[in-house]
Amino acid sequence: MVRVRFAPSPTGYLHVGNARTALFNYLFAKHNRGKLILRVEDTDKERSKKEYEDMLIEDLKWLGIQWDEGPDVGGEYAPYRQSERLDIYKTYIEKLLETGHAYYCYCLPEELEKERQKALSEGRPPRYSGKCRHLTPEEKKRYEEKGIKPVVRFKVPDGRTIIFDDLIRGHIEINVDEFGDFVIVRQDGMPTYNFVVVVDDALMKISHVIRGEDHLSNTPKQILIYEALEFPIPEFAHLPIILGEDRSKLSKRHGAVSVRAFKEEGYMPEALFNFLALLGWHPKEDREILSKEEIIKEFDIKDVHKSPAVFDRTKLRWLNGVYIREIISLDELTRRAEPFFKKFGYIADFEYYKKVLNAIRDSIETLSEIKDRARPFFVQEFEFDEKTKEELKSETAYKVIQKFYEKIKDRDSLTSQDFKKIMKEIQKELGVKGKQLYHPIRLALTGEHSGVGLDLLIDVIGVEEVKARIKRVLELFE
Ligand code: GLU
Repeated sequence: MVRVRFAPSPTGYLHVGNARTALFNYLFAKHNRGKLILRVEDTDKERSKKEYEDMLIEDLKWLGIQWDEGPDVGGEYAPYRQSERLDIYKTYIEKLLETGHAYYCYCLPEELEKERQKALSEGRPPRYSGKCRHLTPEEKKRYEEKGIKPVVRFKVPDGRTIIFDDLIRGHIEINVDEFGDFVIVRQDGMPTYNFVVVVDDALMKISHVIRGEDHLSNTPKQILIYEALEFPIPEFAHLPIILGEDRSKLSKRHGAVSVRAFKEEGYMPEALFNFLALLGWHPKEDREILSKEEIIKEFDIKDVHKSPAVFDRTKLRWLNGVYIREIISLDELTRRAEPFFKKFGYIADFEYYKKVLNAIRDSIETLSEIKDRARPFFVQEFEFDEKTKEELKSETAYKVIQKFYEKIKDRDSLTSQDFKKIMKEIQKELGVKGKQLYHPIRLALTGEHSGVGLDLLIDVIGVEEVKARIKRVLELFE
């Protein structure tokens, strides 16, 4: 049975890199009819916050990732929050101490720092000397009497080479001499990541550990702990790192990096899901737009690349535009867009929003663009800038507008067809065409030099509003 987990630390918003890890775990679980477990790694008491956990859960759900077990839904292997599992960790620490795989270390941070500096200055990799490996009971007692609180270190066997086959990166060999005996319980009594992750993955019967490449160097340490505790070792798959467009590690410098920021900018979760799935993976045929079901069906962890994935924002925007234009239904789009309209102060009912979106959905790539694109549908008494004023005052422009007004002032409806017909008549009667003909009407109706199709706008705002706007301009520039 495939059992995978996503194990975020609730120390901030869900980063798109972590969301990609969650997503690949989800895809792997779904593709293999296995289970996804959400485990909250909150042993860092200072940085972990329940609010962040809540937001992580909210953002994962928004993205369309569901899990089978987790702190919010429970499950056979609960609790799923590490801070609630401290007693379990204690048992296994004791076991390691008893079997001689771990020991108390009383070295003071200052001493260790000195050793570290020395090693660095001599060009050696800094690693713990193993000084406390063989303390006698008397020596321990002396330290205890001095009130020194020990850490617990894992005894790394000398000279071992850890070998494993990573499902993505292939054959890996790491010599343990690269690291010394590492800390598994800190001075404050809190167990460390490398230790708790093994205990949890083993007890939660995780079959495949799928996580970011930045954890590759932790894997040999974890394998040593699996061995020492006689736990079966899971399969490992380390996902390629994500770079910004300048090929440096993706960070805030590159713009929004949290799922929440994309949500607030008006990205569709389906588009982000689709985009994240393509960060390090692609389907057999080269297709870009794939539904969740298609991705699940095609996803094979063996097809994930080793090379870094580049977070291409232009592509994400484009993809989002496709979802807005072609994939999300108009009703659903309207529901999602409603808070954006309101945020921008564009107040109307659902049906009106729907009409506006119908008119502008082809020209927006995120819902934030509603702010500019939808303005003419809501703002009636807009300001004219100097350039526009000059244009509206010009003889031809004013005449076109005047003529237009004459032709609509007694109408009680104005369809797109009517509008086109009227414009043709004006063209004939005044002998102006093209930009000179349409531009003045656009300026009069929107105050803007480009934007939505005028027929679409007129259709939505209706004839009375058109009359009012045109009349206002005639009066202003008489
Ligand atoms: N809490 C760790 C992280 O967020 C989990 C790493 C792992 O999956 O083992 O990076």
